[in-house]
Amino acid sequence: MTIVLATGNAHKLFEVNLILKELLGADVEVKMPRDFGFTEDVEEDGATFAENALIKADAIHRALSLPVIADDSGLCVDALGGAPGIYSARYGGEHGNDQKNNERLLRELDGVTARTARFVSAIAYVSDSHRFTVEGEVKGEILTSPRGEAGFGYDPLFYYAPKQKTLSELTANEKNEVSHRRAALAALVERWKEEGIV
Ligand code: IMP
Repeated sequence: MTIVLATGNAHKLFEVNLILKELLGADVEVKMPRDFGFTEDVEEDGATFAENALIKADAIHRALSLPVIADDSGLCVDALGGAPGIYSARYGGEHGNDQKNNERLLRELDGVTARTARFVSAIAYVSDSHRFTVEGEVKGEILTSPRGEAGFGYDPLFYYAPKQKTLSELTANEKNEVSHRRAALAALVERWKEEGIV
């Protein structure tokens, strides 16, 4: 099974590949749109993670006529009313600049003691015959300074109590056991099985 993941983020592709291989066995190959010559930027102007995931999946499915999954994900901090939410990738002012995003998060939470948060992943699946979304999340807390080297984005600040580590202090496999993306992909595979897609 070849499936297109609507992302230009190589780290996301890596995580999704590892997780889907484990959930489904070795017979799935996840590729990026650019592997098929699609390099356009799709404007994500939805109001929710699920809407944005569908916007991306629809655009790439329209262009490539292959089954597509799209993940839209982000960090929701309770004390910030759910921010940065769908703006997670550009919270610090520059799209995809993890360091600026983390710096802004720490500034916004300066002096705040209730630091609970969750990562959310919405995954859309669009093929010729199907169009739906599923969601997963992982709960944690935002530390006051970063810890660990692995992962990406807000991982160094996201403390996961059951492992007593930040997501950046976990190995890729350990993160993939507990992550929001894992929970969403597990829901996706469940739905694929119900619909007879796999
Ligand atoms: P997207 O690529 O539009 O889904 O934006 C996702 C943004 O949310 C990323 O740029 C990260 O800042 C953040 N994010 C999403 N998933 C993760 C994760 O697993 N770890 C850390 N940050 C994440």
